[in-house]
Amino acid sequence: MTNDELREKLLSSPKNGYVGLTEAQRAEMESYCKRYAAFMDACKTEREATTWTVELAEKHGFKAIVPGMKLQPGDKVYKNNRDKSLMLAVIGSASLNEGANICAAHVDSPRMDLKPNPLYEDSEIAYFKTHYYGGIKKYQWTAVPLALHGVVYRKDGSVVTVTVGEDDNDPIFYVSDLLIHLSADQMKKTLAEGVAGEQLNVILGTEPIEGEGADLVKLNVMKLLNEKYGLIEEDFLTAELTMVPAGKCREVGFDCSLLAAYGHDDRVCAFAEIEPLLTMGVPKHTAVCILADKEEIGSVGISGMQSQAFDTFMQDLCDSTGASLNRCFENSFCLSADVSNAFDPNFPEVSDRRNNSQLNYGVSICKYTGSRGKGGASDASAEAMGHIRKTFDAAGVRWQIATLGKVDQGGGGTVAAYMANRNIVTVDAGVPVLSMHAPIEVVSKYDCYMTMLACKAIYLA
Ligand code: MN
Ligand code: MN
Repeated sequence: MTNDELREKLLSSPKNGYVGLTEAQRAEMESYCKRYAAFMDACKTEREATTWTVELAEKHGFKAIVPGMKLQPGDKVYKNNRDKSLMLAVIGSASLNEGANICAAHVDSPRMDLKPNPLYEDSEIAYFKTHYYGGIKKYQWTAVPLALHGVVYRKDGSVVTVTVGEDDNDPIFYVSDLLIHLSADQMKKTLAEGVAGEQLNVILGTEPIEGEGADLVKLNVMKLLNEKYGLIEEDFLTAELTMVPAGKCREVGFDCSLLAAYGHDDRVCAFAEIEPLLTMGVPKHTAVCILADKEEIGSVGISGMQSQAFDTFMQDLCDSTGASLNRCFENSFCLSADVSNAFDPNFPEVSDRRNNSQLNYGVSICKYTGSRGKGGASDASAEAMGHIRKTFDAAGVRWQIATLGKVDQGGGGTVAAYMANRNIVTVDAGVPVLSMHAPIEVVSKYDCYMTMLACKAIYLA
């Protein structure tokens, strides 16, 4: 055997996804990415993603689960967890004692939440004070167009939904940065210190109402909010309002091979889970899709992946089919569908190239996340990795390996550890992303498409 033959036989040689991509696949990829972009334009918060998905799922025959209901193979149910996270299932032909195939992604993304008492005036400019949510480089969130999204509960208990900054006729909002001409001191600071959290104050208006006082601009803004939404200042206390980057998902590059949007992490994996679930027939094992909240701050809280809400949903499924929750978990598999860092040639020094995911090489499988000696990682076993490799290969899913940067360079986590803690075999996999957690992130269409096929393969395994 020649060395070339030996190489071919023995060494792995990953290929760019466009090599061998058929016209049919390309057409499917393009139409999938169009639908994904529409989802991204409609959903910028976990609430919006939850509401949007419930509406679509109901059109596909999904019904809200009722404790005690009898479920048959092929039945489609969902649990809306307080409008913040969502769990859906298609009942399989096998007993839930044999386990479920679960895909779990999160639909919250880094952003700037309004403080409970946000509105103030300084130097005749009205502002909202914010507290950022998730890990952000604060300097990136200045001088970019922002939109306001959320809900407000008024004193009488009625709720009003607010979205300002997405329509072409809407105003946008803005956090100012210091002009370069006077930045001698600021430019000497580290990137972490250049813009402080308490400087992420959002400009709302500058026109004073007629009259006397030091709050005429603030008063005018409050008057406008009252006229449009019936709000008084105290209502901010019972609101969930957040500032996110304004604008739509766009194609990137002359070849349009990439997509730029706010919050690909992790709605790119959420959408990859949703589509194949909604259109599947009767799977062998029950297929479960999770859209979790609060991943960006540790999966805590009632709508995070550590919440008992998931166990309650699965218990309801088991009760409805006469199965045991413990047996079900013990025999289940979970794809923790979350993004990885695509190799960035602008910053090669942080990555181990041999173990980093790359744009256009397919869904990236991450054996372990964590930091400093795998701290906090779920660390999938050889058996779990074997299962996913076999499943993806059999379904023609192009996959690659991901690790989050060089050893001791940093790290991160996903929901994987919280699924594994429940005695569920779990592996992380998802879409490689450039500029993760920046206001606008970039992914490749090919990797989006492959991740959708990966989720489909897991449901049907
Ligand atoms: Mn994520
Ligand atoms: Mn993240």
